[in-house]
Amino acid sequence: MRIDLSRVTTEPVGFVEELEVAPERLDASEVAAPVRARLSGEVRPVGGGYAVAGTLEASGSLTCVRCLTAVPWQARETFAFELCREIASDSVDEVELGDDDLDRVQLVDDELDLGEVAAEQILLALPMRVVCRDDCAGLCPTCGENRNLEGACQCTPEPDPRWAALRDLSERPS
Ligand SMILES: [Zn+2]
Ligand SMILES: [Zn+2]
Repeated sequence: MRIDLSRVTTEPVGFVEELEVAPERLDASEVAAPVRARLSGEVRPVGGGYAVAGTLEASGSLTCVRCLTAVPWQARETFAFELCREIASDSVDEVELGDDDLDRVQLVDDELDLGEVAAEQILLALPMRVVCRDDCAGLCPTCGENRNLEGACQCTPEPDPRWAALRDLSERPS
Protein backbone atom coordinates (compact mmCIF):
# COMPACT_ATOMS: atom_id res chain seq x y z
CA MET A 1 0.00 0.00 0.00
CA ARG A 2 1.12 3.53 -0.74
CA ILE A 3 0.05 6.61 1.16
CA ASP A 4 -0.59 9.66 -0.95
CA LEU A 5 1.26 12.34 0.99
CA SER A 6 -0.62 15.16 -0.68
CA ARG A 7 -3.55 14.03 1.52
CA VAL A 8 -1.49 14.75 4.62
CA THR A 9 -2.03 18.46 5.02
CA THR A 10 -2.84 19.47 8.58
CA GLU A 11 -4.02 16.37 10.45
CA PRO A 12 -2.02 13.19 10.99
CA VAL A 13 -3.03 10.28 8.76
CA GLY A 14 -3.02 6.86 10.39
CA PHE A 15 -2.20 3.58 8.70
CA VAL A 16 -2.49 -0.12 9.49
CA GLU A 17 -1.16 -2.52 6.92
CA GLU A 18 -0.62 -6.26 6.98
CA LEU A 19 1.66 -7.60 4.32
CA GLU A 20 4.12 -10.29 3.41
CA VAL A 21 7.63 -9.32 2.48
CA ALA A 22 9.38 -11.68 0.09
CA PRO A 23 12.91 -12.82 0.99
CA GLU A 24 14.26 -11.45 -2.33
CA ARG A 25 13.18 -8.01 -1.22
CA LEU A 26 15.12 -8.33 2.03
CA ASP A 27 18.35 -9.62 0.54
CA ALA A 28 19.44 -11.13 3.85
CA SER A 29 20.87 -14.65 3.73
CA GLU A 30 19.18 -15.63 7.00
CA VAL A 31 15.72 -15.00 5.54
CA ALA A 32 14.59 -17.87 3.30
CA ALA A 33 10.82 -17.53 3.57
CA PRO A 34 8.37 -14.61 3.35
CA VAL A 35 8.15 -12.51 6.51
CA ARG A 36 4.69 -11.54 7.72
CA ALA A 37 4.55 -7.95 8.86
CA ARG A 38 2.00 -5.63 10.39
CA LEU A 39 2.76 -1.93 10.24
CA SER A 40 0.75 0.58 12.19
CA GLY A 41 1.40 4.22 12.77
CA GLU A 42 0.82 7.66 11.42
CA VAL A 43 2.19 10.29 9.09
CA ARG A 44 1.98 13.92 10.07
CA PRO A 45 3.07 17.07 8.32
CA VAL A 46 6.13 18.87 9.70
CA GLY A 47 8.03 21.82 8.31
CA GLY A 48 9.63 20.79 5.05
CA GLY A 49 8.22 17.27 4.97
CA TYR A 50 6.49 14.57 6.97
CA ALA A 51 7.15 12.71 10.19
CA VAL A 52 6.40 8.99 10.14
CA ALA A 53 6.15 6.98 13.36
CA GLY A 54 4.82 3.54 14.05
CA THR A 55 5.29 -0.03 15.11
CA LEU A 56 6.42 -3.05 13.17
CA GLU A 57 5.30 -6.50 14.21
CA ALA A 58 7.03 -9.18 12.22
CA SER A 59 7.12 -12.95 12.27
CA GLY A 60 8.69 -15.53 10.08
CA SER A 61 11.35 -18.13 9.94
CA LEU A 62 15.09 -17.49 9.81
CA THR A 63 17.95 -19.84 9.03
CA CYS A 64 20.47 -20.91 11.66
CA VAL A 65 23.92 -19.84 10.40
CA ARG A 66 25.51 -23.02 11.74
CA CYS A 67 23.13 -25.89 10.96
CA LEU A 68 20.80 -24.20 8.42
CA THR A 69 17.59 -25.33 10.15
CA ALA A 70 14.62 -22.98 10.37
CA VAL A 71 14.41 -20.84 13.50
CA PRO A 72 11.05 -19.22 14.31
CA TRP A 73 11.38 -15.47 14.68
CA GLN A 74 9.16 -12.70 15.99
CA ALA A 75 9.88 -9.04 16.57
CA ARG A 76 8.06 -5.94 17.63
CA GLU A 77 9.88 -2.65 17.11
CA THR A 78 8.89 0.97 17.01
CA PHE A 79 10.29 3.26 14.34
CA ALA A 80 10.33 6.93 13.48
CA PHE A 81 11.79 8.85 10.59
CA GLU A 82 11.29 12.04 8.74
CA LEU A 83 10.66 12.46 5.04
CA CYS A 84 12.34 15.68 3.94
CA ARG A 85 12.05 17.54 0.69
CA GLU A 86 15.51 19.00 1.17
CA ILE A 87 18.18 17.53 3.38
CA ALA A 88 20.82 19.99 4.46
CA SER A 89 24.27 18.54 3.80
CA ASP A 90 25.39 19.01 7.40
CA SER A 91 22.56 16.89 8.77
CA VAL A 92 22.34 14.07 6.26
CA ASP A 93 22.39 11.26 8.76
CA GLU A 94 20.53 12.23 11.87
CA VAL A 95 19.15 15.17 13.69
CA GLU A 96 19.08 15.39 17.47
CA LEU A 97 15.63 15.35 19.00
CA GLY A 98 15.98 15.01 22.73
CA ASP A 99 17.20 11.52 23.45
CA ASP A 100 16.07 10.07 20.14
CA ASP A 101 17.96 10.13 16.93
CA LEU A 102 15.53 10.58 14.13
CA ASP A 103 16.49 9.32 10.70
CA ARG A 104 15.89 11.63 7.80
CA VAL A 105 14.97 10.25 4.43
CA GLN A 106 14.90 12.16 1.19
CA LEU A 107 11.39 12.50 -0.14
CA VAL A 108 11.43 11.38 -3.77
CA ASP A 109 7.80 11.53 -4.83
CA ASP A 110 4.74 12.44 -2.81
CA GLU A 111 4.14 8.87 -1.72
CA LEU A 112 5.03 6.68 1.19
CA ASP A 113 5.42 3.05 0.15
CA LEU A 114 4.54 0.94 3.19
CA GLY A 115 6.01 -2.18 1.57
CA GLU A 116 9.36 -0.42 1.44
CA VAL A 117 9.01 0.76 5.03
CA ALA A 118 8.21 -2.80 6.13
CA ALA A 119 11.25 -4.22 4.29
CA GLU A 120 13.58 -1.64 5.81
CA GLN A 121 12.24 -2.07 9.31
CA ILE A 122 12.43 -5.87 9.09
CA LEU A 123 16.09 -5.63 8.10
CA LEU A 124 16.73 -3.37 11.09
CA ALA A 125 14.89 -5.77 13.42
CA LEU A 126 16.72 -8.93 12.32
CA PRO A 127 19.06 -10.35 14.96
CA MET A 128 22.78 -9.81 14.40
CA ARG A 129 23.39 -13.52 14.35
CA VAL A 130 20.80 -16.25 13.97
CA VAL A 131 21.45 -19.52 15.79
CA CYS A 132 18.87 -22.19 16.60
CA ARG A 133 20.39 -22.49 20.08
CA ASP A 134 23.54 -21.17 21.74
CA ASP A 135 25.29 -24.53 21.65
CA CYS A 136 24.28 -25.45 18.10
CA ALA A 137 26.88 -27.95 16.87
CA GLY A 138 26.40 -27.01 13.22
CA LEU A 139 26.94 -29.18 10.20
CA CYS A 140 29.70 -31.76 9.99
CA PRO A 141 32.40 -30.36 7.69
CA THR A 142 33.09 -33.86 6.38
CA CYS A 143 29.67 -35.38 5.66
CA GLY A 144 27.38 -32.36 5.96
CA GLU A 145 25.03 -33.95 8.51
CA ASN A 146 23.43 -31.85 11.22
CA ARG A 147 25.53 -32.67 14.27
CA ASN A 148 22.72 -31.61 16.63
CA LEU A 149 20.91 -34.84 15.74
CA GLU A 150 21.82 -37.86 17.81
CA GLY A 151 23.95 -40.27 15.77
CA ALA A 152 23.77 -38.08 12.66
CA CYS A 153 27.38 -38.66 11.79
CA GLN A 154 30.23 -40.92 12.81
CA CYS A 155 33.06 -38.86 11.39
CA THR A 156 36.16 -38.38 13.49
CA PRO A 157 36.48 -34.68 14.12
CA GLU A 158 39.33 -33.22 12.12
CA PRO A 159 41.58 -30.74 13.83
CA ASP A 160 40.42 -27.24 13.07
CA PRO A 161 42.95 -25.66 10.67
CA ARG A 162 42.72 -22.42 12.62
CA TRP A 163 44.08 -24.16 15.72
CA ALA A 164 46.85 -25.73 13.65
CA ALA A 165 47.88 -22.25 12.52
CA LEU A 166 47.98 -21.08 16.14
CA ARG A 167 50.03 -24.13 17.11
CA ASP A 168 52.55 -23.30 14.38
CA LEU A 169 52.86 -19.81 15.75
CA SER A 170 53.46 -21.00 19.30
CA GLU A 171 56.06 -23.51 18.17
CA ARG A 172 58.02 -20.88 16.36
CA PRO A 173 61.27 -20.09 18.18
CA SER A 174 61.08 -16.66 19.74
ZN1 LIG B 1 21.64 -24.52 14.47
ZN1 LIG C 1 30.11 -36.25 9.57
